[in-house]
Amino acid sequence: METLMSGHWHHLPSKEVTTLLGSNESKGLDEFEVGHRQNHFGPNRLTPTKGKNPVLLFLQQFHQPLIYILLGATAVTFLLQEWVDGGVILGVVLVNAVIGFIQEIKALKAIEALALTMEGSATVVRSGKKMQVTAADLIPGDLVLLQSGDKVPADLRLLRSKELQIDESALTGESVPVQKKLQELPVETVLAERCNMAYSSTLVTYGNGAGMVVAIGDSTEIGRINELISKAEELETPLTRRIADFSHILLWVILGLSVLTFLAGMLHGGSLLENFMASVALAVGSIPEGLPAAMTIMLAIGVEKMARRNAIIRKMPAVETLGSTTIICSDKTGTLTQNQMTVQKITVGEHSFQVNGTGYAPEGQILLNGQSFELTAHSQLRDCLLAGLLCNDSRLVPKGEQWHIEGDPTEAALIAAAAKAGLMQDEQERLLPRWDVLPFESQHQYMATLHTCPEDDCQVIYLKGSIESVLDRCHQSCETADGCEFFDKQAVHAQAEKMAAEGLRVLAFARKKVTGEGITSLTHEDVAEGLCFLGLQGMIDPPRAEAITAVDTCQRAGIEIKMITGDHAVTAAAVSRQIGLKGTGSDDHRDYSHTGRELADMSDQEIRQVAQDTVVFARVAPEQKLRLVEALQAEGHVVAMTGDGVNDAPALKKADIGVAMGNSGTEVAKEAADMLLTDDNFATIEAAVEEGRAVFDNLIKFITWTLPTNAGEGLVILVAILFGLALPITPVQILWINMTTALLLGLMLAFESKEPGIMDRPPREPDTPVLTQVLIVRISLVSLLLLIFSFSLFEWAELSGNSLANARTMAVNVFVFGEMFYLLNCRSLTHSMFRLGVFSNRWLIFGIITMTVLQIILTYVPVMNTLFGTAPISLLQWLTIIAGGLVIYVVVGLEKTWRRKRKRNP
Ligand code: ADP
Ligand code: MG
Repeated sequence: METLMSGHWHHLPSKEVTTLLGSNESKGLDEFEVGHRQNHFGPNRLTPTKGKNPVLLFLQQFHQPLIYILLGATAVTFLLQEWVDGGVILGVVLVNAVIGFIQEIKALKAIEALALTMEGSATVVRSGKKMQVTAADLIPGDLVLLQSGDKVPADLRLLRSKELQIDESALTGESVPVQKKLQELPVETVLAERCNMAYSSTLVTYGNGAGMVVAIGDSTEIGRINELISKAEELETPLTRRIADFSHILLWVILGLSVLTFLAGMLHGGSLLENFMASVALAVGSIPEGLPAAMTIMLAIGVEKMARRNAIIRKMPAVETLGSTTIICSDKTGTLTQNQMTVQKITVGEHSFQVNGTGYAPEGQILLNGQSFELTAHSQLRDCLLAGLLCNDSRLVPKGEQWHIEGDPTEAALIAAAAKAGLMQDEQERLLPRWDVLPFESQHQYMATLHTCPEDDCQVIYLKGSIESVLDRCHQSCETADGCEFFDKQAVHAQAEKMAAEGLRVLAFARKKVTGEGITSLTHEDVAEGLCFLGLQGMIDPPRAEAITAVDTCQRAGIEIKMITGDHAVTAAAVSRQIGLKGTGSDDHRDYSHTGRELADMSDQEIRQVAQDTVVFARVAPEQKLRLVEALQAEGHVVAMTGDGVNDAPALKKADIGVAMGNSGTEVAKEAADMLLTDDNFATIEAAVEEGRAVFDNLIKFITWTLPTNAGEGLVILVAILFGLALPITPVQILWINMTTALLLGLMLAFESKEPGIMDRPPREPDTPVLTQVLIVRISLVSLLLLIFSFSLFEWAELSGNSLANARTMAVNVFVFGEMFYLLNCRSLTHSMFRLGVFSNRWLIFGIITMTVLQIILTYVPVMNTLFGTAPISLLQWLTIIAGGLVIYVVVGLEKTWRRKRKRNP
């Protein structure tokens, strides 16, 4: 069989394909054959490309402007035969690269692992039974069913196609979907024109079809070009990019300053070596070496925290954007509601029936005015239930005590309702076998099936869908088993509206008997008119309790929630009130809701106003979501938009945060999204926003904490040179300070829990600068304090006759302990440490203790003394250092308190 794998499948007649693959055109593979073939062929998975060569990835760590300076400094220091200094600088560069390398590999691995958990599934037919399997289980010969929204799971030779269109851009780069047909093609047909094939990883955008697996895994066309479609994203966000730009500018500033320092030093008359070392000190001191690595680590931690709360980030910038979201446009069904449908009311003609029982268990009764009755006396009710049962692609399966659904909850509710009247799916499907189907698509709002009735030798079409779409196609109502009579559409609308006002999701049902020749396949024209109306079924879908809380939290956090649904305006309004959407207080839903039809008639100008003011958008076609996103963005909003269908993809791409449903979403929607919800729950969006805000806070805290050290160090060197004094800190000492404190102190900010009241403040304006004025003042203040303390303690030690090494050790410790105390200030940008809980961040405590031990080693261990030019210091000296640190803590603490009082927070 292997030899066949490279065959020209597009050239063969479909019969031959099926025979060659030992399968069956309608029943698929025999179930017993499956295991055997799986052993033989292995899983349908692409061997992951090795990714970047690790050596290359490691070398890349050196490809940063700031590292160039350090490498240059190393080279010159070695030339000057300053072996220890050169060695230490080189060591720091290497340590930095190793840390960066490990972090990057870890982050990439984590993202890859997340991608794997989202592995797709496929619908196959095996031994004549339709089933859902993971895509990895497919084998050559499998009969796969395709539907719009699916990702093609393997290379297929198509056997059936109903207006099937496939987006093959993943393979061919051509973004216009290809219309699929079935005829055989000449051998030499190129890949892009093989319209009787469907290739792995391409996306079904319209229609449906079936095909036989001819190649899996690496033998597929996509496997051959060996490119993983959802390859791990770059670890870049707008903020990290801004920081990268900033470091480019910094590079030149620092180089300029270093040259100036060198020249100034020469004027003062120091030796060449001395002056060179001074400018190296300035350069390495002013470079925030730890910054890029720390940013990546903090982002990666954020992504992981979100994943733990069921939000999977597919595109890194989302982590940051989430924090500034101002509007969330959410689906209703399944996201704000439970998607646990139960039919409660059925209206047929003048009669209104009640259905009792909860959930999907077919236990309960249908009552008329509280009384049970004989179904035979109400044949139209029977037809209405039958339409719901047969025009249906879902199943109810018992699992222990529980009933599970395969398919759509709306449809499952209809199966349960029919069962309560004694109509069972298997039996009815045997009596009225299905010939063809027009599946439900949001833009059409209906589904239709064609059945034959072997007893009477006739054909019948069942239709179900939204009240508007069904009534438009009906001209009469079916009162008796075969006779039809006119009916009052207005009255039916009124009935539907009454049910909707109770929050019920209403579906309408109709039937058409095919006259004349009979048909073999169903088209939209067949159901365009001439149907008989059967009745309405109304089902409840209770709101999710978590969603109610989450909506409240978001609204307090200044985020507006809008509901976008394909459902009826009145149902949507009732549900939005239950959920507590802001602005839905009034009884008249027209005050706050608009329908898709109304939107369609509006100009772009009008829609911008309406999009802002409206809370509920009902009967919205997926295509209109794009217009809404654009309108809201034009008004300056940062928009998160949910979606699950194929047609939602453009809106998901356009939204600042496209959110796809991990469970119910189509592959197409997932591919377009920035974030996936593994539980399809609105509360998860809220959680992600919260985490996004926390990540951004932590990044800012880190920057605010780290910059004063660099500025302080740069200033110390500059002042020393300008006044012709000895350097208070040497290049190697500076590197020691920067590396150890960034890792042991600064990074611990990533483990800080969320700021109190993180969801009580308005969203961050997207264009506020990273550092607000408040923070710039704070950074300058701390830089100055560090400069003053290090310089004065250094001079004091020198003047009181201590060695230069002793004086420098003082300066180094001033920086380290100053940063340590300042770190306590930076745990929150507004609140004091006591509000957060002094010991609430264990990692921070661990970091502080370790850092203290390291400083003691640096000060007292002889080897360290030789390597870093340090010397032991006295107890009194220690006390002055600690005092300096305390002063910084108190000064910044007072500044924060003052701003809190004046409500001028960063
Ligand atoms: P939403 O998910 O926002 O509630 P949908 O686009 O799924 O909206 O559904 C819109 C309308 O289409 C529903 O109100 C219902 O009348 C109808 N509908 C929903 N699901 C089906 C289905 N499986 N078959 C037929 N009609 C359906
Ligand atoms: Mg839906």
